Amino acid sequence: MTDAATNDPHPPAGGPLDLDAFRSNGHQLVEWIADYLAGLEQRPVIEPVEPGEVRAKLPATPPRDPEPFAELLADLDQVVVPGLAHWQHPNWFAFFPAMSSPASILAEFAAAGLGVQGMLWSTSPAVTEIETHVLDWLVDLLGVPTGWKSDGPGGGVIQMSASDSTHLALVLARERCRDRTGAAVESMVVYTSDQAHSSIAKGAAIAGYRHVRQLPVNDQFAVEPGTLETAIAEDLAAGRQPAFVCAAVGTTGTTAIDPVRRFGEICADQHIWLHVDAAYAGSAMLCPEFRHHQDGLETVDSYTFNPHKWMATNFDCSVFWVADRGSLIDTLSVVPPYLRNQASDSGQVIDYRDWHVPLGRRFRALKLWWVLRSFGVEGLQQMIRSHVGWAQELSDWVDRDPRLERFAPTTFALVCFTHVDGDEATDRLAEALHQAGFAVTASTAADRRYLRVSIGSTWTEHRHVEALRQAIDASA
Ligand code: PLP
Repeated sequence: MTDAATNDPHPPAGGPLDLDAFRSNGHQLVEWIADYLAGLEQRPVIEPVEPGEVRAKLPATPPRDPEPFAELLADLDQVVVPGLAHWQHPNWFAFFPAMSSPASILAEFAAAGLGVQGMLWSTSPAVTEIETHVLDWLVDLLGVPTGWKSDGPGGGVIQMSASDSTHLALVLARERCRDRTGAAVESMVVYTSDQAHSSIAKGAAIAGYRHVRQLPVNDQFAVEPGTLETAIAEDLAAGRQPAFVCAAVGTTGTTAIDPVRRFGEICADQHIWLHVDAAYAGSAMLCPEFRHHQDGLETVDSYTFNPHKWMATNFDCSVFWVADRGSLIDTLSVVPPYLRNQASDSGQVIDYRDWHVPLGRRFRALKLWWVLRSFGVEGLQQMIRSHVGWAQELSDWVDRDPRLERFAPTTFALVCFTHVDGDEATDRLAEALHQAGFAVTASTAADRRYLRVSIGSTWTEHRHVEALRQAIDASA
């Protein structure tokens, strides 16, 4: 940039590219973030805000002249914060956690500071190699098949979201099914549970499938292998082509677990692609005592889990592993002349642009690397075990309370329960908890309303869970 008045090529002091101003503004921002996080408990977990209220605070046109950073920062307090649901609030028990942590926040900042694109190995080798290395670490840390490491036939890549990973798995399944059977996508069938996340139906629609079977579940909210077998047989008899099965290790509604090994055997018999969605529960596998829930992973074709849910890594960071990276790269690789380079041609490097839809990619691995290093594996394990322990305690209390009924097994850190007086009483309890300053989710399954209490927000301590328990006790 050139200063128009002086023709000086250096950025003018006080202007938007002044690095001295950046230093002092950056320090102020770090202070602001620390104050925000430290003060969250004093705020409502969800700010009361009417539709259009935030926008009404914004000027109709962008500023003609530069504004000082102090005004930008002031608007975080005046415009942004009053318009938020505070996902990092210690009383956040809604949905699943969207964890964050100091190391992860700083890594995001550092990645923005570096401002690199890691689409090819050659466009920033460190971005690719750190990602590959950290995902290989995770293979061991989570006890998933070693063949998914970069020195095996498979491989992993960081995507924006589990929805992206599942969409890609659906595309790979479609291609494999077409190559093997010659079937058109219109006749291919996708199988998932009626408890599966909406991303499966959405990904299927984007990938062109017309048939998505949402299979009924048992009283544990999991699909029985026989249900899958029957559905496949019916479709084959009707001339349709089974192409893709999604097994959940931890459904969104209740953290139910489909029988991966049995699904793997059925899919292997029928040459059907098996994908595992462990978006939430995958992080629990840091602790070996949970790994029996993922038994059978060596039979699956692809797998996704979200460190951005329960591994202290802020959104976005979703891991996608495939058992055979060759089919992924063959399907997605398109090489225009401007992207050709010696390193790629040598076949010695990974170019992650061939592993997902976008070309450009940011340095997401940095935050995962920093989180693993700042917590240490034992620190992360302890965090998971604390959340699960607190959930178990709450769950045991629910079991003892005659006004409440547990709705699903408490396998990880999600506690699901209803009010024995029925749906209206359950909804009233949810509302009372909101009024008392807690964010929980009310949902429906098996035609019943129930409450989901998801423990795992970064700043939640045992005392917050105990306060929630007391609020339930007072309002039930
Ligand atoms: N799968 C499951 C089981 C989930 O619980 C969720 C989100 O809660 C998703 C997929 C979607 O995750 P993402 O927001 O990363 O697409």
